[in-house]
Amino acid sequence: MELRYLFKKTQTAPEEDKKSVESELPSTPQGLFHKCSKCQETIFSEELRKNNFVCPSCGNYFRMYATTRVSETIDEGTFEEWDTDLLETNPLGTPGYEEKLRKLNAKTGLNEAIITGKGNIGGHEAVVGIMDCRFMMASMGSVVGEKITRAVERATELKLPVILFTASGGARMQEGIVSLMQMAKTSAALKKHSDAGLLYITVLTDPTTGGVTASFAMLGDIILAEPGALIGFAGPRVIEQTIGQKLPEGFQRSEFLLEHGFVDKIVDRKDIKDTLVDILKLHENKGAFAPEDMPEIKIPAKKAKLTPWDKVMISRGKDRPVAEDYINKLFPDFVEFHGDRCVRDDKAIMGGIATFAGRAVTVIAESKGHDTNENVARGFGMPSPDGYRKALRLMKQAEKFGRPVICIVDTPGAYCGLEAEERGQGEAIAMNLYEMSALKVPVLSIIISEAGSGGALAVAVSDEVWMLENSIYAILSPEGYASILWKDSKRASEAAAEMKLTANDMLDLKIVEKVIEEPEDLAMDNIDAVTSRIGKGLNEFIGNNIDFDPDTIARNRYDRFRSF
Ligand SMILES: [Zn+2]
Repeated sequence: MELRYLFKKTQTAPEEDKKSVESELPSTPQGLFHKCSKCQETIFSEELRKNNFVCPSCGNYFRMYATTRVSETIDEGTFEEWDTDLLETNPLGTPGYEEKLRKLNAKTGLNEAIITGKGNIGGHEAVVGIMDCRFMMASMGSVVGEKITRAVERATELKLPVILFTASGGARMQEGIVSLMQMAKTSAALKKHSDAGLLYITVLTDPTTGGVTASFAMLGDIILAEPGALIGFAGPRVIEQTIGQKLPEGFQRSEFLLEHGFVDKIVDRKDIKDTLVDILKLHENKGAFAPEDMPEIKIPAKKAKLTPWDKVMISRGKDRPVAEDYINKLFPDFVEFHGDRCVRDDKAIMGGIATFAGRAVTVIAESKGHDTNENVARGFGMPSPDGYRKALRLMKQAEKFGRPVICIVDTPGAYCGLEAEERGQGEAIAMNLYEMSALKVPVLSIIISEAGSGGALAVAVSDEVWMLENSIYAILSPEGYASILWKDSKRASEAAAEMKLTANDMLDLKIVEKVIEEPEDLAMDNIDAVTSRIGKGLNEFIGNNIDFDPDTIARNRYDRFRSF
């Protein structure tokens, strides 16, 4: 769209205009003291500034000026501001609009509700846009949409990541239908940016609503949010008036969105820069392949030969390390991301990005947790459809960025229950098998304890599958097998022998490529014996796949499963 931004005619209703400008005054600090809107405490401006504009008494987040955000986030002296000269438009000829914009410009020094440009964040170059609520609640008119679109288009040309800090009341009413089109325009530019394999991060701040939520705010590869930010499409008051329903506490806050699967991570304001640096670094993936140093740890000779049933019991052992322990040992720089972007964040599946041997990898793990509380929170490692969809979302993201995927498998089976069926457990598992089969990046799955049925296979359609020596892999539990075949679940130990579920059985059947030796009494105190063996294998797996060909890797995986 060509921008013809002329201050055509001014028909200001002075009183009304004055009122609306004042009602949009920021809750950001000015002057020597500030009153916290939440706890009413009076705070020195300097103290507030030092505390990243977070109330020291109650933790309330003050809204930040875009210029402050630039100086807090972008390396000093590296910010190059773009498109400062776009003149305003009044596409519908709304009376008084231009006058209002002019007044806001004089008052805030901002030419519009967003600052865009290019700068370095911890030495990593990125295109950045930061919205500022002082300017008409950072509503999106054609200039905001145009600045974002231009910034994204330039990022695509320059092959740079985009980071947008959102804060907005939504589309700008004074520009009506032209505002609505900005939602499509910005989304379209982001689609091209994504198709070019580039990274887009959004940082949602208070408030992010309406047409901004329904366009660029929710399109990040990674969506971060500040704590307690209001994020939603329709405002709470509108919903209550429309449907006459009382809304739950915390509705539409960042934490609510995290729980419902729409936010990857909530980040305290003081940690935002470091988090962005970590994410940018993980996506540059320029590191040379450098095998991890894995110590030789001897495993003592075993006393007894274990039966298949012994192994079933060992794999379910209370002290046996869980996925999180392996992640901590093997991927210490793991950054966890949450949510299926659909319904919920299922804690039975953990997912995120880390490096191994100098290369970025996506790690996905079925996670049981350590104690009873964690077991309950993580659904005993039995993923819901939301968990499988989160896993798939992260795998597709790995594919976009060319990262190998490492899955840690540990589940008695997929969760079975009313909600799981309502949300399509079967469909979710099926979709993972379908998509994983053709994923154009290397995929490895490691079974650490129990691998039960489709619930395990949904994260194990891989180029290679490895098993710990005393782990098991089966179509159902030995108890279930005995009860179905012999109507007697007490004959589970007999079933275990008949089912061929041990790691060595799997090796014979060519279901797995590698059995990893483990100590007789594997627990946290001797986990290094196992992680060093897995680590050696990972050095090899990643080393062998440095220059993988996307089509070959997918074809080989097809052949692997075609052979059964
Ligand atoms: Zn406060």
